[in-house]
Formats: sequence, structure tokens, C-alpha cells
Amino acid sequence: MLKNDLLDQWDRENFFHPSTHLAQHARGESASRVIKTASGVHIEDRDGNKLLDAFAGLYCVNVGYGRQKIAEAIADQAKELAYYHSYVGHGTEASITLSKMILDRAPANMSKVYFGLGGSDANETNVKLIWYYNNILGRPEKKKFISRWRGYHGSGLITGSLTGLELFHKKFDLPLANIIHTEAPYYFRRTDEDMSEAQFSAHLAAELEELIEREGADTIAAFIGEPVLGTGGIVPPPVGYWEAIQSVLKKHDILLVADEVVTGFGRLGTMFGSDHYGIEADIITIAKGLTSAYAPLSGSIISDKVWKVLEQGTDENGPIGHGWTYSAHPIGAAAGVANLKLIDELNLVDNAGTVGAYLNKAMKDTLGEHTNVGDIRGEGMLCAVEFVEDKEKREFFDASIKIGPQVAAALLSEGVIGRAMPQGDILGFAPPFCLTKSEADEVVAKTAKAVKAVL
Ligand code: PLP
Repeated sequence: MLKNDLLDQWDRENFFHPSTHLAQHARGESASRVIKTASGVHIEDRDGNKLLDAFAGLYCVNVGYGRQKIAEAIADQAKELAYYHSYVGHGTEASITLSKMILDRAPANMSKVYFGLGGSDANETNVKLIWYYNNILGRPEKKKFISRWRGYHGSGLITGSLTGLELFHKKFDLPLANIIHTEAPYYFRRTDEDMSEAQFSAHLAAELEELIEREGADTIAAFIGEPVLGTGGIVPPPVGYWEAIQSVLKKHDILLVADEVVTGFGRLGTMFGSDHYGIEADIITIAKGLTSAYAPLSGSIISDKVWKVLEQGTDENGPIGHGWTYSAHPIGAAAGVANLKLIDELNLVDNAGTVGAYLNKAMKDTLGEHTNVGDIRGEGMLCAVEFVEDKEKREFFDASIKIGPQVAAALLSEGVIGRAMPQGDILGFAPPFCLTKSEADEVVAKTAKAVKAVL
């Protein structure tokens, strides 16, 4: 085994960490965090510190850590057939079975699954397929995408552009052309104090419609949104939001992509966020929970309406010119099959709903009255606590004070991982679906202690 000092040195010298302050890390100013093992909702670092991971990695280890059935499915697949591609009609039992299992669970209008590796490439696929779709329909001008400020859709060129967080644009020359952002459905941060939630939804739909009319509906291909804003602050939509938005999109013949990378496969207590909010998407993006992150795999679930045009396109133009070497990788697919079976066997979607509601209520009961807690919100196994300087006036702390990261650090020292969301003073929770009520109590009690230590 390598000595800690040597590992730290190699880490600083060789490893380019994503989403990290590179200079500080290289200078050794931030701790190396080497994780060694994990089981259930707990991870353990190389020094034997055990932490309750109340963010499931990056909201992805939905069935919890250490699931032997998934590990064995991966090992069996690697031994039998580690790889074969899925180009020109090839497949494996695992990838074919998984596509059937996904469609059995997806909304009824869905028709096919295209597999990728992660959420970013799946959204990249969606943009390309929708451009192709409009070209086949003879509408070459209909190419722009609308996404929301605070949306998160990945960090590639197009997907980083769709993402509505400044950090992901700054100094990268993003967003690219053809990507437009509209207001976030963030009721707590509304500017008009007197609006009800329903009025706020109507206002957002009206803003969207104005934007479409300004740009010209014949230039707008699609709207993309997460059923619940995730990385932008864990923000469930205001009452009536999806209904109002969909009616504008339908009126202007604009496709809807539901980015369910976080919400897919049970996080809201329903199989998809689309089921929860009555979203009728044309494409659904899936990743994280598809394999519970035991292996990288993502997908684009394509509706019958879009699929028919893609088929027509290949009849007119030959094979579709879009593919990844690792599309439908057999090991990812085997992990996906075992993961979805486990979710059913252990009734984890229901658990996400009931224990998630318990966690959200306990958080509100314990911290709701705190003078610096402005909002506690969530849905299913998603929960956020937003800190404010002045509760009555909804005034926020100066960004330089970084209350969110401070509370997250205090919580970590209590042995619980929450996530300081990247924009605003928001502490986020997205635990594995197997969280128990007593573990939820522990998360809440330790969060209260951490808040007390900072505020
Ligand atoms: N879409 C959503 C809603 C996400 O939350 C994420 C990642 O957090 C992505 C897309 C990008 O997924 P990946 O990091 O696997 O590329």
C-alpha cells in the first residue's frame, strides 16, 4: 500500500481534478480526500473516517454503496464479454434487456433508447438528434434551444452552454450561439414579493412566450429543463409551472427535453420526474440513477414522434452519423439491469418518497424557524436549506462570506456529507434511496449542529 504522503504528492503532481480550484490543490492548500471503501449510505476514507454520504456521491449512488448483486453482474459480464460495439445493429443481451426495462418504466409515448456514457454526452446527443429531426422535416432554421438560468445539463460545449450557471461559462467562451436562457422557476428568489406561486408560474410562461415571439418560433427547436432544478439550487417548480410551460411550447411547436439525469429512476418517489409533474417530453435524458453509478452509462429516451422522423431520415440519407465507441457498453448495461432489478426488489422508489418526505419535514421542523434559514424545500429524496442574512426582507449574504461552504464544512466535521451548491448559500441533500428514518434524523440533527456552529 502506498504511504499517504506519497499518494498526496502524486495526486498534486499528476491528477487534474474536475470542478476543483487547481492552483490551491496543486499547492496542497486543500486536503486530498482519498476514499477507500463504502457500504450502504456510508463512505470511508483511507484514514478510517466514516462519513454518512447524504449526497449519494453526486446524486447518483441511488441504491447505496456495496451492492454485491450489481458488482457480481459487472464481474460476470466482464468475464463473459467485456466489450462489443453496438454499431450497425450489434448488441448484447444486457443492452437489449436494459432498453426493454427502461421503456417498460418510461412514460407511454416513449419508443427507443440511445445509450451514452454520461449525462453530458446524452444531452449532446439530444441536441444533435433534434437538429437532425428539424432538417428532415425541412425546417433548417428551427435550431435554437431554450434552457433556464440555473439549469444544469452538463459541461461539454453545447451542454455547458445549455447549463445556466455562470461558473460553467466564464472564461470558456460559452454559451455558444443558438442557446438562449430564460428565467429560473425559483419562487424563493422572485423579485415581486406579492406574487403567489401560481402567478409566478404564469409570469414565467408569459416571459417564455415573449422570448419565443421575439426570436421567432420558427427558429426555436426545443426547450430543455430538469423537472426539479438540481445543481442550480435544488428548486422544485412552483405550482402549475410545467403545465403552463408545456402549453406555450405546444402552441409554438417546440420540442421538450426533460433532463432526468437526477430525477430519473425514483429520486422524487416516482419512477420519473415526468410522472410526478405531468411532463410529456419528446426526449428524456437519463444517466446517474440508471446504474446507480456502478458503471458509467447514460441514455436518451426518444418518443415515438421523434423516432418516426429519425427513421424517415435514414431512409432518405443512410445510416445515422452519430455514435460513441462505448454506446451501450455491455458492462454498463449489465450494471443497469442489476440496478433496476434491485430498485424493484427493495421497493426503493417508494422508500425515496416516504423517507424523503420524512427528511424534508424533519429539516423544516428543526431548522425552519432559524433566523438565517430563509427556505427549506425539496421533493422526494432531494432537500435544500437556503441561508439568508435577513429572513424578513429575503436579503442574501455577500457572496464572499460563503456561508453554504462553511456550513457544509462544519457538517463534514460532524461526519455527514451535504453539498454546498455552486451558486448561492444553499446546502443540498440527495441521499441514497435506502436511507432509513433514523439516518435521516442523524442528518437533520447534525445539520442543526453545523448551522449553530456557523450562524
Ligand atoms: N444533467 C443533469 C440534470 C445533471 O445533474 C448532470 C450532472 O450532474 C448532467 C446532466 C451531466 O451529467 P454528467 O456529469 O454525467 O455528464
